[in-house]
Amino acid sequence: MYHFCFQGSNFLRAFRTIPEASALGLLLGDAEESAGKANFPRLIQSWNRFVLQQLIQDTIETDSGSGTERIKQMFESEVQTEVKCRCGKETERKSTSLLVTLTYPEFLPPTATRPAKEVSFSSVLQNSMLLDQTMQAWCDDCNRYQPTSQKRTYTRLPDVLSINCHLESNSDMVFWKIQEQLALARESEAHKQQLEANIASIKMCRYGQACTRQGCKFRHMDERDASNPLLQEENKASWLPHGLRIRLNKDGTIEIQEVRDEEKVESSSGFINYYLHASVGHIRDVRTGGNLIAHVQVGKTYHKRKEVRPCPNEQLQQLL
Ligand SMILES: [Zn+2]
Ligand SMILES: [Zn+2]
Repeated sequence: MYHFCFQGSNFLRAFRTIPEASALGLLLGDAEESAGKANFPRLIQSWNRFVLQQLIQDTIETDSGSGTERIKQMFESEVQTEVKCRCGKETERKSTSLLVTLTYPEFLPPTATRPAKEVSFSSVLQNSMLLDQTMQAWCDDCNRYQPTSQKRTYTRLPDVLSINCHLESNSDMVFWKIQEQLALARESEAHKQQLEANIASIKMCRYGQACTRQGCKFRHMDERDASNPLLQEENKASWLPHGLRIRLNKDGTIEIQEVRDEEKVESSSGFINYYLHASVGHIRDVRTGGNLIAHVQVGKTYHKRKEVRPCPNEQLQQLL
């Protein structure tokens, strides 16, 4: 579909020559794309990883000084991973990380006797970032694979936190869906009150029920009131918060709080504020493979520019 919207052929030509792009499976054939054979959720995440890695690599190649440092500061976390074998052998590794991949808690679908449990997004993110887990790993002392505990701490957090949601399994998808439903239910009372306040704010129509005006926006005390736009406002509650506050503790652990819509955020007690800036999602459609959708919060200046550009001359002058 996007082929009609813009010609990305120059970009594509350059892109095809990058070995990492084909290694990560980022190049889709036309047939693959239209038949819906591609794994789009995985593609989104591979792209994210690729773009970040490429950005760092290209900057290092062209700028060995402050530019690289600045880009790294924007996107890189400095991570320390502590690995401890059952035998007691400990190893520590310093590394950098460009994105967080979410891992979800084990989730059992709710039943009549076991209601769905609310788990906050911030706690899922926190656990994913700290990666406190036990896994099979090779130990040089034991000379075999052993259950090994792994723990991550941080020495630096990036300015831009990039997250791969890794919604690939069905149970993770169900987990996310149920958290969305719980968030909607949690906000339903507040939403109901909002709608009541909205209807109370609509002025009575001076013609009352005798009003014949199509789409009259005043109140008539009949069924027309229900179609008033002020009553069509949806419950916009979401599991995903609009922002996060993250604090890096002295011991390298992190603490995450969620920022909800109207809350005023104070930058105190060592928390860094992050706002949801962009997201890429996959809208599923079994016949075509679906579409990829990007949401980008562009800010006011972008919309101002958009308004001015297509105007005829005289309108433009008025605006200036
Ligand atoms: Zn060991
Ligand atoms: Zn009216």
